[in-house]
Amino acid sequence: VKKKAGKYEKQAKAVKQTAVLGAGIMGGGIAYQSASKGTPILMKDIKEEAIELGLKESRKLFAKQVERGKLSIEQMAEKLTHIRPTLSYGDFGHVDLVVEAVVENPKVKDAVLTEVEGLVGEDTILTSNTSTISITRLAQNLKRPENFCGMHFFNPVHRMPLVEVIRGEKTGDAAVAATVAYARAMGKTPIVVNDCPGFLVNRVLFPYFGGFSQLMAHGADFQRVDKVMEKFGWPMGPAYLLDVVGMDTAVHAGEVMAEGFPERMGSLGGDAGKSAIQAMFENDRLGQKNAKGFYAYE
Ligand code: NAD
Repeated sequence: VKKKAGKYEKQAKAVKQTAVLGAGIMGGGIAYQSASKGTPILMKDIKEEAIELGLKESRKLFAKQVERGKLSIEQMAEKLTHIRPTLSYGDFGHVDLVVEAVVENPKVKDAVLTEVEGLVGEDTILTSNTSTISITRLAQNLKRPENFCGMHFFNPVHRMPLVEVIRGEKTGDAAVAATVAYARAMGKTPIVVNDCPGFLVNRVLFPYFGGFSQLMAHGADFQRVDKVMEKFGWPMGPAYLLDVVGMDTAVHAGEVMAEGFPERMGSLGGDAGKSAIQAMFENDRLGQKNAKGFYAYE
């Protein structure tokens, strides 16, 4: 796979100025990672609080690097200048590549992607950090689908090396090349994958969440399940992982997976009763993002 990514990289146009739409868990993480590796990034959200939180998270991560002696205070200040928070599309005309990281809802993503396409240059690459929605599906309303592909980071962005670069039916080589090059410039390991709901990683991960949800509906204790999966060798169990992902994101992504693969994913809780994940979501237990999920957080 690495070899394939390298092939694309040779054709890459330079990615010097980028933008991320959404300053949430993922958007904030993408902004931090880009700034940390020296590529300037506009961070746009529709909510002032989200921008504040995104910036706070970046400051915290840079401050940790200073504490560990990996960065000087001057270097931290310089890196922070690479993140330009904004509530408007003002400077989007000069952006080489955009990463869309708003909520996992096809209608919202459609609206945001078509809006931004009308504001950027003709050869700007648009990408989506969607967890599950088909890239071919998201390209449907775009005027330049050849300039669009998936750029799927994992959470937490600064620690997870993998980035799935997803080629939709109409994605051109130049878009894949620029996205692979940007992922590498961010210090990540890109893999180029074909398009389908959930791509590669979430096609494997969501049936696992479904299995966990069914165990819960059959009366299992989530803390024990987590402990067992840790003993099995996974870095964390499914309940803790769901807290990290966010119950809202898991529910929305789960719907897309169930629609795409009803025979395998329709059971995200399904016949065993209401999905535990859905119940958590409806009770506003979103996970780490609001400090209460399966576990409680400070
Ligand atoms: P989040 O809820 O933390 O953040 C979403 C942000 O988008 C919010 O700050 C919201 O205000 C903002 N937003 C909504 N509409 C907007 C608009 N029109 N313009 C700009 N900003 C807008 O969600 P998240 O967990 O960061 O997920 C974002 C995307 O990343 C989703 O597609 C999700 O599936 C994907 N993703 C999430 C994870 C994860 O573990 N959470 C991992 C990989 C990919």
